[in-house]
Amino acid sequence: MKNFGSSFIKNFTISEAEKLFRDLDEKPYRATQLFAWLYGKNCDSFDDMSNFSKDLRNYLNQNFILNPLVCEQKLVSEMDGTEKYLFKTVDDHYIESVLIKNEESDSGRLTICISSQIGCQMGCTFCSTAKIPFIRNLEAAEIIDQICQVRRISGLNNNNIVFMGMGEPFMNYDNVIKAANIMNYSFGLHISVRKITISTCGILPRINQFIDEGHLFNLAVSLNDTDTNKRSETMPVNKKWPIEDVAALFNKKMPKAHNRLTLEYVMRKDNISRDDAVRLKKMFKYSRIKLNLIPLNGEGTPSENDISSFIKELEILNIPITVRKSLGRDINGACGQLSGQKYR
Ligand code: SF4
Repeated sequence: MKNFGSSFIKNFTISEAEKLFRDLDEKPYRATQLFAWLYGKNCDSFDDMSNFSKDLRNYLNQNFILNPLVCEQKLVSEMDGTEKYLFKTVDDHYIESVLIKNEESDSGRLTICISSQIGCQMGCTFCSTAKIPFIRNLEAAEIIDQICQVRRISGLNNNNIVFMGMGEPFMNYDNVIKAANIMNYSFGLHISVRKITISTCGILPRINQFIDEGHLFNLAVSLNDTDTNKRSETMPVNKKWPIEDVAALFNKKMPKAHNRLTLEYVMRKDNISRDDAVRLKKMFKYSRIKLNLIPLNGEGTPSENDISSFIKELEILNIPITVRKSLGRDINGACGQLSGQKYR
């Protein structure tokens, strides 16, 4: 695979940018100026960087790519205003990002759902991305540029970021952590760690690494079943790293400084019994958890009554919950659906 990384300017950390400018006999403070253009002003051309000399702008133009993504399509839901973006990469592949406007999140703010890979190898049976061939990991620059482009096109800036688009973030650990750090830098996108959520299907060694490295980004695990055999049927990752082992790791190591662990739970007819609630409580008994409930769309959708009974059981067990609506249904809201059309 071609190494794009070295030509993407948004792959640079501030210290890497300082080194670049030093090597060019420029002052290292040019790095903070560059970051102010890239992220503070969300500039999309080196030519606009007016405090750089013409020679420096020419050099950057000739050696670097500023926008690693091009927006191919934007769809807006008539039902709820959700915006879906289809981006093309420099090697002619497709990824998706979603801007969710009326999410009932804790903060009630806008959320951008971003992708971390082109395709995914994890094979979850309910997922559209799993049906796309796995192509490659995204560079940190391609992860960050989704936010820059969505902000520029939508004109909306105040965002939560969730790694819940195409791909398994922890199968692209280094680039995802690098991108999240650049998002968080005060001279980067300056997004608080509490507003950046990385969602994994349960890659145990990387969860362990994430905890050991002391990152404070929010962590979410896509749970969906408490019965391990049932979970293995829809999420093959469970055969390699069973959910009990993931829960045991959190029970043992979840850092005190960390927010609650979010467990994503798509409610089906057959996973919302009292037994499921009790098993969940027992499994994560030493962890601070919050359950994010999402009703399944289509076949297998549980009735309102069954959902209410499940919520009551969870409340009796003192498990904090949020209930999320499924948004953007009229524009193929789930990630992978739009790109899937390109690969069919
Ligand atoms: S749900 Fe996530 S981890 Fe599973 S196949 Fe889809 S993108 Fe990959």
